Amino acid sequence: MKPVLIKNFSAPELESWVQGLGERPFRARQIYRNLYVRNVSSWGECTDLSRSFRNQLEYGSILDALAIARVDEAGDGTRKYLFRLNDGNHIESVLIPDPPRYTICISSQAGCALGCRFCLTGGLGFKRNLDTAEIVDQVCQVQRDAGPHRITNLVFMGMGEPLANYDAVLRAIRIITDPNGLAFSHRRVTLSTVGIIPNLRRLGAESPVNLAISLHAPDDTLRRELMPVSSAYPLPELMHACREYPLPPRKRITFEYILLDGVNDDKRQARELVRLLHGVRAKVNLIPFNAHAGSEFRTPSEEKVLAFQEVLQKAQLTAIIRKSRGDDISAACGQLAAIANNAPCTASLRDD
Ligand code: SAH
Ligand code: SF4
Repeated sequence: MKPVLIKNFSAPELESWVQGLGERPFRARQIYRNLYVRNVSSWGECTDLSRSFRNQLEYGSILDALAIARVDEAGDGTRKYLFRLNDGNHIESVLIPDPPRYTICISSQAGCALGCRFCLTGGLGFKRNLDTAEIVDQVCQVQRDAGPHRITNLVFMGMGEPLANYDAVLRAIRIITDPNGLAFSHRRVTLSTVGIIPNLRRLGAESPVNLAISLHAPDDTLRRELMPVSSAYPLPELMHACREYPLPPRKRITFEYILLDGVNDDKRQARELVRLLHGVRAKVNLIPFNAHAGSEFRTPSEEKVLAFQEVLQKAQLTAIIRKSRGDDISAACGQLAAIANNAPCTASLRDD
């Protein structure tokens, strides 16, 4: 029998699986606690399970879905992890310390099929969707490595488009936010998406995690140029879905806007952005483009970034400029995996 990736199971599925092995259901709760509360790295550590059951688990299941291939630490403490998957593909996670906040940025796919022009991951192309276990295990393994610092926040802003891998991502969110699992509050989990509209609606109905929409342009013509996915899910329809999104009280949608020099950073475009977001419970994260070798885009001057922000603020729109973290280690989604996969380097990732 092929060993199962144990972190693919939801709590009830684990219970049935354990019963199938002839064990009582409470054994599943013990396993779940060992996996997510104790965060064990081997079955040998699970001394609350009998030796014979541990043996069965050893041969019938895979505990770690990933192996750390490399860790880089930047001057500012940002740690970037390159993980090898069981099939030889690579993905990345980043841990961004900002005490008392420790934010982990995780991947949902190996590569990405959507090909946004400014993004290095997009340039890598699509390898495959991650399993739930491969998503959840990024958190387990980085937490183990982070030692005493508890990871407090989690963002789906690494490689891949989470709503293009909806089922595995939603299952992972359930384990991540399960009080008996990794026990993150929904308020501390953010999913970033370009807006795959049907799955955006499903997410609104199925999970109260925070939502970030990668906007990057105030009109659909420019957005289609920068993000080909906008042809399939046009901006007016996306904004309609955002207006209808079932937000919990006092919550807002975050709109991410990468500022690209001379492309989308004009004050006129800032005013258009204000109009676009009119009536939406919104805040804007302005992200000065994280430049990388070979890219056709440049980072705007600080002056231009501030001028863009001022237009939004004068219109009573909350607009925060996101600082870049871990620059000296290319803590940017896609860069390490690009090296591992022998592809040209390009993308980048930044602070939550
Ligand atoms: N696919 C999802 C989530 C992963 S990308 C999405 O696109 O939302 C996470 C964020 O990093 C997105 O807002 C993306 O646009 C941004 N990003 C990608 N490349 C970047 C770069 N070179 N500089 C700054 N931000 C970048
Ligand atoms: Fe994919 Fe997001 Fe990069 Fe676009 S920005 S290519 S959706 S990872």
